[in-house]
Amino acid sequence: MKKKSVIEGAIKCPECGKKCKPITISVSGAKVKGWRCSCGYELISPEEIEKVYLLMQAKKHEKVKISKRGNSYMITIPKAIAEAIQIEKIKIAEVFLKDEHTISVKV
Ligand SMILES: [Zn+2]
Repeated sequence: MKKKSVIEGAIKCPECGKKCKPITISVSGAKVKGWRCSCGYELISPEEIEKVYLLMQAKKHEKVKISKRGNSYMITIPKAIAEAIQIEKIKIAEVFLKDEHTISVKV
């Protein structure tokens, strides 16, 4: 028997009982799998809940110190952000100045 994931299965709307269609939902800037019913009800896949939770935790601003090492300056990445983006899997990041007061790090 072929293994079927929850995503492929038909999901019934808990509000009206109709069949929901699979969609991609944007939550906290991340795209996650979910379903939408014709009545407007949306569900996020249980497989994606942890991802959404980690991203929401990482959205909180934290103050970090800037230190100097040789000719470079360093900042630390808060644990919540490191976990949300699974930083252990990332080897290279792109750093750029977004505006006069914002440094962005694209991973
Ligand atoms: Zn519905």
